[in-house]
Amino acid sequence: TSDRLSSDFYAFQDSLSPREVEATLAVREFFEAEVRPIANDYWERAEFPRHLIAPLGGLGLLGSAWDESRQFENSARWRGWACLEMSRVDASVSSFVGVQSGLVMGSVACGGSPAQRKEWLPVMATGEVVGAFGLTEPLSGSDSARGLRTVAERQGAGWVLNGAKRWIGNATFADVVVIVARDAGDGQAKAFLVPTSAPGYTATKIEGKQSLRSVQNADIVLRDVVVPDELRLPLVESFRDVATVLRLTRAEVAWQAVGNSIGAYEAAVAYAREREQFGRPIGSHQLVQDLLSRCLGNITASIALCLQVSLLLDEGRQLDEHSALAKAFATARMRETVAWSREVLGGNGILLQNDVIRHFADAEAIYSYEGTREMNSLIVGRAITGHAAFA
Ligand code: FAD
Repeated sequence: TSDRLSSDFYAFQDSLSPREVEATLAVREFFEAEVRPIANDYWERAEFPRHLIAPLGGLGLLGSAWDESRQFENSARWRGWACLEMSRVDASVSSFVGVQSGLVMGSVACGGSPAQRKEWLPVMATGEVVGAFGLTEPLSGSDSARGLRTVAERQGAGWVLNGAKRWIGNATFADVVVIVARDAGDGQAKAFLVPTSAPGYTATKIEGKQSLRSVQNADIVLRDVVVPDELRLPLVESFRDVATVLRLTRAEVAWQAVGNSIGAYEAAVAYAREREQFGRPIGSHQLVQDLLSRCLGNITASIALCLQVSLLLDEGRQLDEHSALAKAFATARMRETVAWSREVLGGNGILLQNDVIRHFADAEAIYSYEGTREMNSLIVGRAITGHAAFA
């Protein structure tokens, strides 16, 4: 391909189809033209640029994995690469896509009936209907499988939901929220599409966030919220089915970590070529070259890992521990890469306008959400040893 991402040192992008490369370039151009100029400003104001939602749908970034919502035949490798391109410019916007396209549409696609897929996926793909995904609770994060306290009780033809959710992305402006709740009957996890207009439902923005500031995270309270049975996702019968969706999205968070790393690294490279100290560009000093070389090593190794975990998905061979390792590895390498990149800019590295500190700060949320690095490491540990350290 002619327009190769400069940070794509080993030309990995050549493994995408010509149509996928074309779509990748469209995403890159859109993000450079429409997102980069406003990203720092929205981040600083902690607001989400909602005018981007329809264009994100237009680019085919919402629901590209599913027949009902995809614009063209594509591979998991392309979908991952699209995450990379988005977060290279703005990880908050790519998190919006991760929630809408991955967690919400993924829940509908994996857990919904054919009729529900047909009803919801197309309108979510255009951004006409915005979703959020509510699993985490005030008292349960890493242990959400066993610690789920939100309860769904069968009542007549519907369900009554009571409980609280925390950290729920997009929830301040979403139309519908996938709520994971424990069935008071069989004790298993169930999932419901809860309209945010339902009586008894409230969402309050979490203030003071210093990472992914543009993402609107909310505390949700559900007080006797009545949900008809048609809004239950019938194929979610236990937490195991929720974990299927998380496996898919975790692999994409690994891609997001690579993109966030590249954003910081590219700012560092540009700076190192220009900034002079001791009478020459800092990029000519050995220690600065070593930092940049280590960043590129992290990025290159992470892309290789992500491509393979996506290939396993395309081949129907991806396991939980595969995407857990990708998430754990890529986010750990990201933390190093954004710190080293920030370091290259010296004092100027802490200024928002120099396009590196936002990536540095955003790395912290990416490291911890969709299963912390530690929890993903334990999923891998369980596969290696046959013993669960967190059961
Ligand atoms: P805790 O579970 O309290 O963990 C705290 C620390 O203890 C971590 O370091 C963890 O690794 C460690 N720890 C816990 N248990 C163990 C153990 N057994 N062994 C070793 N270490 C352990 N959730 C949603 O449902 N929907 C969303 O849209 C959403 N968006 C988010 C967006 C952001 C910006 C953030 C920050 C979070 C979001 N989350 C969302 C929640 C996210 O998934 C949780 O924060 C994450 O799962 C970790 O849970 P916790 O924060 O409660 O940390």
